[in-house]
Amino acid sequence: MMAGENAPRRLSIFGSTGSIGQNTLDVIEQLGGRKSYEISVVTGNANVELLAHQAKSAGARLAVTASDERYHALKAELSGSGIAVAAGASGLAEAADLEADWVMAAIVGTAGLAPTLAAARKGATIALANKECLVSAGDLFVDAVAKGGGRLIPVDSEHSAIFQSLDEGQRHAVERIILTASGGPFRTWSRADMANVTAATARAHPNWSMGLKISVGSASMFNKALEMIEAKHLFGVRPDQIEVIVHPQSIIHSMVGYTDGSIIAQLGCPDMRTAIGYALDYPHRPKLNVERLDFAKLSRLDFEAPDEERFPALRLARTALERGGLQGAIMNAAEEIAFHAFVEERIGFLAMADIAEAVMDKMIATGEAKTMDDVFAADAEARRLAAELVALNEKAA
Ligand code: NAD
Ligand code: MG
Repeated sequence: MMAGENAPRRLSIFGSTGSIGQNTLDVIEQLGGRKSYEISVVTGNANVELLAHQAKSAGARLAVTASDERYHALKAELSGSGIAVAAGASGLAEAADLEADWVMAAIVGTAGLAPTLAAARKGATIALANKECLVSAGDLFVDAVAKGGGRLIPVDSEHSAIFQSLDEGQRHAVERIILTASGGPFRTWSRADMANVTAATARAHPNWSMGLKISVGSASMFNKALEMIEAKHLFGVRPDQIEVIVHPQSIIHSMVGYTDGSIIAQLGCPDMRTAIGYALDYPHRPKLNVERLDFAKLSRLDFEAPDEERFPALRLARTALERGGLQGAIMNAAEEIAFHAFVEERIGFLAMADIAEAVMDKMIATGEAKTMDDVFAADAEARRLAAELVALNEKAA
């Protein structure tokens, strides 16, 4: 039965104004719009015009801007529409509290953690684009979803591919999971060449059109680092079962290797709408108007080993996986600070990984996360240390 054949699925979209959010609204249109999905809430941040437009055209009950100072602007945009308006952290909490069967979690960064966790605790099924939730809160987040009674369905293209390639009855026969990586715009560059790049160059991804943070993260391969940790929590595999292979065409979205030597993979043109549609219509496979693969035109697929010397983020992910505990949260928080500093041209491209590594080493003795408060405390301390290192780095430059 497709969503829409019965009552519409109630869906909240966290981060509707972003790249994933806009693709989500496009997929919903393709899947029958309001006949199939009743939109509870849309949330955004700075772009209140777009948010208001989305709220009206999707018929949302509530629109939330994460930015307190934009409350009145959003209220003005939506006056007379009958759509409720809220702002800030309390607005996001209100969004998470609205009844929803499904939540598209597409806020960027650790800002997505609190509302997604709250929605998971209420029992919504989480279509998870925000990988930072899993990297920082790991098993606590997975447990919250399980306890709430919903499901966790990955939207990240690699993890959607693995999810689709996992044979539920054969979990014990999974030997390894192989994450593919495009290698980003600097795949063939030397470190010396990367030293002076700007955010504008770093965000120009060869295959995918995405938000700023993930685009820069693809260039530094920090995005792949987050995805390695994301995979551990989503699929319950050991760190040594997680491999990364560079595949510049981004056609194979990831693979699962089994004990009989078989590899099962999911392929497609690089278009996030396939993974989004899979997560929204789950357990069905929707009919989507996306480009079809033409193997004759493609003619070849290339692969190469990742280079951890030029892309130290991959090495940091291994370290975080081996050390376990709160190292994922620490790595993620430190890099988020370093990423913002890079975008503001306060530090260079290569300093991002240096700062993340230094903060991880300084906080090596931080214990396990027993509660979310432990996660928030480690996150805050890692941010504080990273900000100090950014300032030192600026002085030295
Ligand atoms: P984006 O920057 O395009 O959009 C981010 C969304 O979050 C926007 O709606 C923005 O308004 C909102 N937002 C920004 N700061 C906020 C804050 N402080 N509080 C609340 N909301 C805030 O990002 P994106 O590329 O759509 O990525 C969203 C998430 O999905 C990220 O975690 C990313 O890693 C993941 N993801 C994205 C892609 C992709 O193709 N874009 C692929 C896989 C995974
Ligand atoms: Mg991905």
